[in-house]
Amino acid sequence: MRTRMPPSQPQYPHLFRPLDLGFCTLPNRVLMGSMHTGLEDKARDFPRLAAYFAERAAGGVGLIVTGGFAPNIAGWLKPMGGKLSWSWEVGKHRQVTRAVHEHGSRICMQILHSGCYGYHPLQVAPSRLKAPINPFTPRALSAAGVERQIRAFARSARLAREAGYDGVEVMGSEGYLLNQFTVPRTNRREDAWGGDTARRMRFAVEIVRRIREACGPDFIIVYRLSMLDLVDEGNRWDEVVAQAKAVEAAGATLINTGIGWHEARVPTIATSVPRGAFTGITARLKPEVTVPLVTTNRINMPDVAEGILARGEADMVSMARPLLADPQWVAKARSGRAEDINTCIACNQACLDHVFENKTASCLVNPRACAETELVYRPTTQPRRVAVVGAGPAGLACATVAAERGHRVTLFDAADEIGGQFNLARRIPGKEEFHETLRYFRRRLEQTGVDQRLGTRVTGPDLTGFDDVVLATGIVPRQVDFPGVDHSKVVSYLQVLRGEVVPGERVALIGAGGIGFDVAEFLVHEGPSPSLDPARWRAEWGVDLAYASNRGGLTVPAPEAAARRVWLLQRSPGKPGARLGKTTGWIHRATLKAKGVTMLGGVEYVGVDDAGLRIRVDGQEQVLPVDHVVICAGQEPFKPLLKALEGGPATVHVIGGADVAAELDAKRAIAQGSQLAANL
Ligand code: FAD
Ligand code: NAP
Ligand code: SF4
Repeated sequence: MRTRMPPSQPQYPHLFRPLDLGFCTLPNRVLMGSMHTGLEDKARDFPRLAAYFAERAAGGVGLIVTGGFAPNIAGWLKPMGGKLSWSWEVGKHRQVTRAVHEHGSRICMQILHSGCYGYHPLQVAPSRLKAPINPFTPRALSAAGVERQIRAFARSARLAREAGYDGVEVMGSEGYLLNQFTVPRTNRREDAWGGDTARRMRFAVEIVRRIREACGPDFIIVYRLSMLDLVDEGNRWDEVVAQAKAVEAAGATLINTGIGWHEARVPTIATSVPRGAFTGITARLKPEVTVPLVTTNRINMPDVAEGILARGEADMVSMARPLLADPQWVAKARSGRAEDINTCIACNQACLDHVFENKTASCLVNPRACAETELVYRPTTQPRRVAVVGAGPAGLACATVAAERGHRVTLFDAADEIGGQFNLARRIPGKEEFHETLRYFRRRLEQTGVDQRLGTRVTGPDLTGFDDVVLATGIVPRQVDFPGVDHSKVVSYLQVLRGEVVPGERVALIGAGGIGFDVAEFLVHEGPSPSLDPARWRAEWGVDLAYASNRGGLTVPAPEAAARRVWLLQRSPGKPGARLGKTTGWIHRATLKAKGVTMLGGVEYVGVDDAGLRIRVDGQEQVLPVDHVVICAGQEPFKPLLKALEGGPATVHVIGGADVAAELDAKRAIAQGSQLAANL
């Protein structure tokens, strides 16, 4: 296959230096990391999967890795999950490899055997130990069973080659089967496949050796090595190094970095994780091996990637979600247009949360991700005059897509800056990334020629002369009613987040939805956010890249003192935060717990007076001696203009929070705005 060799890039010289793998050369140092999209399981979804990868290949990614495919039924992630073990399964994969090769990129198929993480009763593992995050207990493999799994990996790799893949990635991290073999936590065997370090890692090494044997010397083998297990009884550093050396000797072409088991209680990719927080561990391995190393986790902008490569901490950077957010990421960086990148804000809301709910992945900031064939922004043949009222996420998405398509768009906002509620969200410690979305939209507004009228509160008469009026006017906070609600202690989350009120040392929050949790984070932190300081953040979560004390790279967490005493309350029974995102809710709960926040469900609000907030829980009344009570009790749609426009000549559309405020989020707002604009 012909490899495109673009000219060197002065701003990011290391990122765009080709990488010679001996038998082929990658044009740049960007690896699109493996990510399950939900399109891997059924043959009928492969055309969509091919279109998804084709857009990323066209964007110039050096090497792509697919989501995980099991090498056999025992290795399924879930019943009927994606698998490549029979020759009749090869055909559908050819659609993917052809689509990627047409754009001059390369693609590896990830082989993932779930082991005790498989959500089905046929799962196998080194020992009969149930994973804490799975109801099924695995069967311990016999020696013959171990051999069968190794053969399955080699066979799957051979079939991948037949399907046109340039290589495979062997999933040896994140707590899946190979990782289960390598660590004492899950490998209690005393035979040739367990016991000391060499025997525990033998399974992984043998798999790499047999794949190399089966697929020949000119086939890429990426080995995803767990460099930091982040669980008790994980590997020691000397064992990580020994494994790296052994898989290199067995024939790996590249070693990719794996961070944290799925059951680890340390966040590894959420937005509150600092950029490049784990790269130091890849850097530590660099002097130990000669094979190129790929580093990963929370690398989302070219300057971060370039810095890592320039400092020699790794030879490639892996990004999965950033390429979901912007398929043109590499092309934009290559042409020095980092400002144009639609940055992944690491929210997980439309990608990982969807996958864990058995839905197709997409992206909060790019609703076209995994919908490339359905959500298409075609140029219009009949330009219309469109007014968009409200420059929050919904209005911004709608205005920019409509203008891109050729409509004449005027965007109004009462505020002097674009962004709506995202301007509050980005003030929350750990949500700093949200400002990137507004930077991106600012650029898009300029590029698409949207006429911006900021600082303009629109009334009905301002909207004459438009064919379409889009109301993206957002929300108003829900009003609550109980005795003392007018007391001077009672304030709204808006006043707090805008800095109009600085709460005292003891604060009660009424409402424990997304905003209640965010306001609690805002109040317990003071000074620069730990999310901007990797060393402080690692200390808070007990991550020890030096492996000084424990296996798995863990140490005792040392949370910084909370800036305030906070009570987070809700009326419904049960644990507050139960409705937060599947992959991030536990992080919010753990952070607040570490800061001593009292989280209470089943609360009845009796009233507020000079003594504080009176509540009743389980029939017992108590007074919380607080200085302030902050109302975070949800939101209501705000659309007073709707009435004024009724019966007028313009077609009126209502989107985002103005349409539905319950369970509202930016994912829905941006998707709704984009879809409306695609159909105007
Ligand atoms: P808004 O963002 O509310 O924007 C509406 C805009 O309309 C405003 O700028 C307003 O000035 C303007 N406007 C109103 N009336 C007029 C008028 N008459 N003339 C001109 N302009 C007008 N969502 C998530 O998905 N994930 C998160 O992690 C998340 N975190 C959040 C954290 C906080 C602290 C907050 C407050 C919200 C968070 N949200 C989050 C919610 C998210 O911000 C909203 O879902 C999103 O902003 C809704 O977008 P929207 O465009 O519908 O409305
Ligand atoms: P929310 O999620 O609807 O939560 C509102 C909270 O207020 C609930 O805890 C509710 O619990 C309580 N409440 C409702 N009515 C009340 C009343 N009359 N009196 C007292 N308490 C009342 O809304 P939100 O927290 O304001 O968030 C707004 C939107 O922004 C949400 O839809 C959310 O999706 C989005 N957001 C998302 C994130 C995220 O991380 N994904 C972060 C922030 C915001 P009880 O009824 O049990 O008391
Ligand atoms: Fe990134 Fe959020 Fe999009 Fe996922 S949904 S790719 S985390 S921006």
